[in-house]
Amino acid sequence: MTPPRRPPTQALSTLAVHAGEGSHDSDAPVVTPLMQSATYVQEVGTSEGLRYPRYGNAPNAELVQRRLAALDKAEAAIVLSSGMAATACALLALLRPGDHLVACKWIYGGTMRLLTQEFTSLGIQITLADPLETRAWRKRLRKETRAIFLESPVNPTCRVLDLKPISHIAQEEGLALVVDSTFASPVNFRPLEHGADVVIHSATKYLNGHHDLVGGVVLGTAPYIEEVRQKMMLWGGAPDPFACWLLERGLKTLDVRVRRQNENAMRVAQWCAERKEVRVVHYPGLPSHPDHAIAAAHMSGFGGMLAIELTGGGRAAERFVRKLRLIRHAPSLGGVDSLVSEPRHNSHTHLTAEERAKLGIPDGFLRLSIGIEDADDLIADLEQALH
Ligand SMILES: *Cc1c(COP(=O)(O)O)cnc(C)c1O
Repeated sequence: MTPPRRPPTQALSTLAVHAGEGSHDSDAPVVTPLMQSATYVQEVGTSEGLRYPRYGNAPNAELVQRRLAALDKAEAAIVLSSGMAATACALLALLRPGDHLVACKWIYGGTMRLLTQEFTSLGIQITLADPLETRAWRKRLRKETRAIFLESPVNPTCRVLDLKPISHIAQEEGLALVVDSTFASPVNFRPLEHGADVVIHSATKYLNGHHDLVGGVVLGTAPYIEEVRQKMMLWGGAPDPFACWLLERGLKTLDVRVRRQNENAMRVAQWCAERKEVRVVHYPGLPSHPDHAIAAAHMSGFGGMLAIELTGGGRAAERFVRKLRLIRHAPSLGGVDSLVSEPRHNSHTHLTAEERAKLGIPDGFLRLSIGIEDADDLIADLEQALH
């Protein structure tokens, strides 16, 4: 049923438009039709070929899953109803009560709560590792450890982790290395090529790129993705066919969008670095960034995400955000519209100011998701708001 994958020699931009697609027959639609049906006629006398969207096999889901697998060079992919559903089902498929997970302490706020509140209540033990500590990962391993979870680049501080030493440990110890690669997108980084076993994306962000759907993806080996599918079927995290259709459409422009976002973010970061109102710029593309060398060695682009710390602290940040006219104040990221967010008022609102500062998110910290607008227009907007 699954058509053969295209030869791996094709470039990502081509795969983003074509991988996994159908027919060259006369009269075939060039754009995948949306099959917005919640059920399909079943063959009598067998369960073979049973099609039901909650099982992850709606035609629009199957098509976009093939395309996503091709982009991240994975054997298989599954699309879920959100990035959180993807993380939850990816880990439910790996961990049983009594198992232990080592997670990086620099992870998305929602993931942190999922692990420390929900997974611990299921009897799964979680230990957080500080990547700045020497031997941080190895020190945390126990005989019950089954997997290592990390995110790179890190939301919202834009730190970049070197997967190589971590994947060596995972391989030696027979652990699964799970990487949330939402910030990079397959254009800038493909963790499976760097020793990861499982990749997760919030498709809400770069993969779709238009701020008009919520979705998630898990990528890995075919047998593992089948396990994730079993979890998704029962815990109920399948996507709607329309979300899959929108995601496939969004993916077609992934390569051009992300390249433009890389260029724009570099221009904005360089400009911000020259301003006295900006105390620090966090962008892996700047030589001043602590992980610049790692990012330059392993990533194809430095990304569209950056963060700035304003000299004037929280009050200055609020004044600045109110004055922006083009860049809007909204959570989420990775889309064509540039957005700004203040982590202390959304993803990190549950922490105290001191706890946030310890994580590298002091008051005055703003996260910028750079879109595909003209870089000069974005800079003009930042300039008038800083005045
Ligand atoms: C947004 C985000 C998520 C969660 O994705 P949703 O689609 O909002 O559920 C997970 N990880 C990272 C890094 C994110 O930025």
